[in-house]
Amino acid sequence: MSKKCPWCNSENNHQFLKLKDYFLTQEEFEILECNECKLLFTSPCPEPDKIGNYYKSEDYLSHNEEKKGLFAKIYNKVKKINIKNKFNITVNGQQSTVNSLLDIGCGVGDFLLYAKEKGCNVTGIEPSEDARKIAEKKLDCKILSPEELQNIPDNSFDIITMWHVLEHVADLKTEIHHLQRILKKDGRLVLALPNYKSYDAEYYKDKWAAYDVPRHLSHFSQTSIKNIFKETRLQLTDIKPLKWDSFYISMLSEQYLNSKNSFIKGVLTGWKSNRKARKSGEYSSLVYIFKVSSEI
Ligand SMILES: [Zn+2]
Repeated sequence: MSKKCPWCNSENNHQFLKLKDYFLTQEEFEILECNECKLLFTSPCPEPDKIGNYYKSEDYLSHNEEKKGLFAKIYNKVKKINIKNKFNITVNGQQSTVNSLLDIGCGVGDFLLYAKEKGCNVTGIEPSEDARKIAEKKLDCKILSPEELQNIPDNSFDIITMWHVLEHVADLKTEIHHLQRILKKDGRLVLALPNYKSYDAEYYKDKWAAYDVPRHLSHFSQTSIKNIFKETRLQLTDIKPLKWDSFYISMLSEQYLNSKNSFIKGVLTGWKSNRKARKSGEYSSLVYIFKVSSEI
């Protein structure tokens, strides 16, 4: 069983947390922290032919549109506001310069649909065949599978977005290599990731829903992101919060605690997390924005 860091290959690490797949299988995992690059990674990392088993749930919300109940209703409402917010972060007031946008892990294509309506030329990549089919119908275009990333020509996109996707990627080196390769020279990468340095993560500990092992293979902080990307041609230019995520993640975490009133308690913790983050900058989810650097 390999306990090598998926970024720097160092075997110099220590246990950060012991936890379970509270979402689906209740299997035990540990999260290790690399002492070199500070990346956190899930151990054991499921074999490529087994990982699909951990996504087999009716409840995997990003792929499920027909959910009922209060929690799902609010989730869907917030999702709409979130999409608009994500698009504004993505274009950063320079929409006229955005021509081609690739969303990796596009799910059922809601973000791409919004971007398309705003005039972007959109492309999606999505591992789930079911989600791909829904997205293709919605967008009237072909959605690629992750294996097709390597076939995309160099300098293809003005913007690549990955909304809570990089933490699912097993081979970070190859993924980042392709991101650099297919972005245009003045292109931008928009990377949203859960932040385990947030107040809600510290509050819920092993029950923090955004650890989501073993679907999340890596767990990032501002420090590890800086360490990882300083070795690439992608230069970090900005970090922005996704303020709605603290509420959603806290409510889900309360469910793992089997709390009564998980909704109210989740809202309160989410609110507290955002309030603390105003000073610390450690929001529950952070969006890292990179531009392609001409140096190196
Ligand atoms: Zn490392």
